Amino acid sequence: MSTEWQSKLRRLPSVSALLTDEAIAQAGERHAHDRIVSALQAVIATAREQIRRDGAEVPEPRALVELAIAHLAADTRCHLRRVVNATGVVLNTNLGRAPLAPEAIATLAETAGAYSNLEFDLETGHRGSRYQHVEGLLCQLTGAEAALVVNNNAAAVLLVVDTLARGREVVISRGQLIEIGGSFRIPEVITASGARLVEVGTTNKTHRQDYERAIGPDTALLMRCHTSNYRIVGFTSEVSPAEMAELAHAHGLVAVEDLGSGMLVDLSPFGLPKEPTVQETVASGLDLVTFSGDKLLGGPQAGLIVGRKDLVARLKRNPLLRALRQDKLTLAALERTLRGYLDPERAIAEIPTLAMLARPADQLATAAERLGTMLRGLPSLGVSLQPGHSQVGGGSLPATDLPTTLVTLTWEGKSAQWLLDALRTADPPVVARIEQDRVLIDPRTLLPGDAEQVVAALEGLNPHD
Ligand SMILES: *Cc1c(COP(=O)(O)O)cnc(C)c1O
Repeated sequence: MSTEWQSKLRRLPSVSALLTDEAIAQAGERHAHDRIVSALQAVIATAREQIRRDGAEVPEPRALVELAIAHLAADTRCHLRRVVNATGVVLNTNLGRAPLAPEAIATLAETAGAYSNLEFDLETGHRGSRYQHVEGLLCQLTGAEAALVVNNNAAAVLLVVDTLARGREVVISRGQLIEIGGSFRIPEVITASGARLVEVGTTNKTHRQDYERAIGPDTALLMRCHTSNYRIVGFTSEVSPAEMAELAHAHGLVAVEDLGSGMLVDLSPFGLPKEPTVQETVASGLDLVTFSGDKLLGGPQAGLIVGRKDLVARLKRNPLLRALRQDKLTLAALERTLRGYLDPERAIAEIPTLAMLARPADQLATAAERLGTMLRGLPSLGVSLQPGHSQVGGGSLPATDLPTTLVTLTWEGKSAQWLLDALRTADPPVVARIEQDRVLIDPRTLLPGDAEQVVAALEGLNPHD
């Protein structure tokens, strides 16, 4: 006996029937035949399941074809894609940290599509080193004797500890046993490098004598770690970079600092807290300093190591370096970004992260007003402006709130969460945040053209979803 759904199933078109469809034939110009067949199989299987389980009607062949074409289109779209950052968090680690300057992107693209002198010395015609392209520049910018670039700052710390302290001891203050981004934990990096961690002092106070008492025959390094993503306030004290360097040298030891973000310009004139720059940290006498390329520096992901020539030479001989090396595309973008710093004023204007952090309040207010004007008049949308705060993010300058003007949005009959989700599923996705039942757009992190994308995303919203 044949049930109703069995007869419906028999009426479902076959793959070969759908293959004769004109739209599918056209798709053949862009997609491999096998991909088209699997897309059709997938949509037929879904239809079959819906008939059997939910008693759904037999879909029209046209509808199946459209679904299959949508499947194929989704396959060609990259999973990693650009988003609009409306969160106001400048170094948003989840959103890829620093966007690059147009000049850095152009250099990267040029290097990507051609051969380069990555490991070829154009003067001698002999083999060169990928590490030489930015070494001189980094020395010039930071005042260090030597420099080396690896994949990221975590790799930089790993390489330094592995090279200089494997099988020996690294002394660190208990106030600086940092965890950054959930997976970079200083105690674990030290253990992974085959060194032993010796903790000294307390969470809030560590004194010179604490380090002195910990120094023994197995000590290799005294290490400072920048408390990038937290602050210890109240009764606190720590040993300064200069004092640590002096103490290490008095005992024939090496002093290093994981500086985290690594700023090459002082942003305090723009209302940010005074943080030691890389130059100042190097000048304090520390032997090696490590920092990230894609935090406040505003370049691509990279780990930069600057300091004493003999120590950098030892780092270069460590076989681990081969596994931590930077690729040519990021190297190209890094070099171009660093060259921008030869003129610090231009760097602040042209490197997107610096420009965003330095953006004056009146410019942000103007940008918010402009966006507000573009949005007013869209049906169902409630728009207003209010003062608020942006954040530096990326585990840099915690507890620093930068004043901004926010555009707040509501959608008639819908929750703020609905609006937030709808913006996030737009193309390109717009990532915002919610406060007090309203969606907030912070103009500080909008790049040129992003305001128009926010407008397009809101225009394209379907309130029936
Ligand atoms: C961010 C940070 C790191 C990790 O740097 P990556 O470049 O993300 O690997 C390590 N140490 C400190 C102090 C940091 O702030």
